[in-house]
Amino acid sequence: MKTATPTFINEQAIHDILEKHSQPDFAQVRDVLAKASEMKGLKLEEVAILSGISDPTLLEELFQTANQIKDTIYGKRLVLFAPLYISNLCANECTYCAFRAKNKAIVRKALNQEEVRHETEALIKQGHKRVLLVAGESYPKQGFQYVLDSVRSVYAARHNDTEIRRVNVNVAPLTDEEFKLLKAENIGTYQLFQETYHRQTYQKVHIGGKKMDYNWRVTALHRAMEAGIDDVGIGVLFGLYDARFELLAMMQHIFELERVFGVGPHTISVPRMEPATGSDVASHPPFPVSNLEFRKIVAILRLAVPYTGIIMSTRETAKMRRETFALGVSQISAGSRTNPGGYEEEVEDEVSGQFSLGDHRPLDEVIRDVAEMGYIPSFCTGCYRLGRTGQDFMDLAKPGAIKAHCGPNALSSFMEYLNNYASPQTYETGIQLIEKTIAGMKGLPGERARKLVERVKQGEKDMFC
Ligand code: SAM
Ligand code: SF4
Repeated sequence: MKTATPTFINEQAIHDILEKHSQPDFAQVRDVLAKASEMKGLKLEEVAILSGISDPTLLEELFQTANQIKDTIYGKRLVLFAPLYISNLCANECTYCAFRAKNKAIVRKALNQEEVRHETEALIKQGHKRVLLVAGESYPKQGFQYVLDSVRSVYAARHNDTEIRRVNVNVAPLTDEEFKLLKAENIGTYQLFQETYHRQTYQKVHIGGKKMDYNWRVTALHRAMEAGIDDVGIGVLFGLYDARFELLAMMQHIFELERVFGVGPHTISVPRMEPATGSDVASHPPFPVSNLEFRKIVAILRLAVPYTGIIMSTRETAKMRRETFALGVSQISAGSRTNPGGYEEEVEDEVSGQFSLGDHRPLDEVIRDVAEMGYIPSFCTGCYRLGRTGQDFMDLAKPGAIKAHCGPNALSSFMEYLNNYASPQTYETGIQLIEKTIAGMKGLPGERARKLVERVKQGEKDMFC
């Protein structure tokens, strides 16, 4: 049965607005940048104006504004996570993905629960605390229960008395009932990318299986939130259709969630299409997004929804990841494998992986690099575990009160990493950064940070406020 057509993605309105603002003048752009600096977000038309910028001076002003907002709201924190691919079985035909059903060029594998535990232990050994569980849309004989069991196995895994503290999930759209079951497993964020909001393109690139139903997918985050999952993650696969259109359509989706639930998505992901085994489309994206355009997208999102986390994966190169930290990225994956079983085997496998990675470095190297740039790698899971999710999180985040928690918690979780997992070189870099950061913190956050870090230095774990 086809899902009814929702009206919140209005293609004609997007095309009209884009046409109207294809060449915004200096005054228009500067008005929007001034408004964005108040950190209250932007309207659709204002996002369209920014997306029309091509003048290098205005682009620079856009990047500077994004940088100021990122610094004010997030400071120097960067949250780290690892994707955990549990299965590459899939019944769909997404022409851009190596996991698509008819692709004979990859080896299929669904981890059993013991293997999920082993993979998780391998991640814990590296120092990870946050996992994004990923699967294709076809499960072994247990059906959807397989996903629930896997979430449970990740939370149950232990190494040296340490565990994964937040499991986010990226699996195909679920029914109301399934979302309730997922919520009951204590997941963090449910993440789902629309891939493209442009219906005609959507139908062209999804040529088999349940994923052909655009409406079922575009309403999935509504069902998730109705089922009580407070934190949802949104995204577009850039490269399938015009990036300016996708940006505005994603904003329409965000505004709709805000209208219905009083709060928008917790995170936005910005995957750019990467080459994938057995896919011509992935090697030749119909609407390739240049590096400059990509940085522009991140910067505009930072201005448009200042309190929503922006996630960048290891699809991007280390260089692009570095450049976009300054513009608004607040979460990154590190040391990733996209082939089920890839962590325990310590291999990056083109023959069962989903797409090519741009950043191949191990976690310790990424952490050192990030720390050398002055960013504090954070493994904090405090908000979610104290119930600061959804509206509660935004209520704290918007007046800036969350910073008194995030700063100290980031430092405490970083200290825990340094104590237990870092190479000597990373330890040295990290300790210096922690000391310098605390020295620059004033009042309550500074006191909290000092106390938490000292306790972790003495061997305590999982300290947060
Ligand atoms: N199967 C589920 C689905 O499609 O929603 C969830 C997992 S799927 C592996 C996660 C995401 O990978 C997709 O939403 C898509 O955006 C992304 N992806 C697929 N092929 C890709 C490619 N060639 N390059 C980059 N990202 C890709
Ligand atoms: Fe399957 Fe998801 Fe890949 Fe599509 S994107 S082929 S649904 S794993």
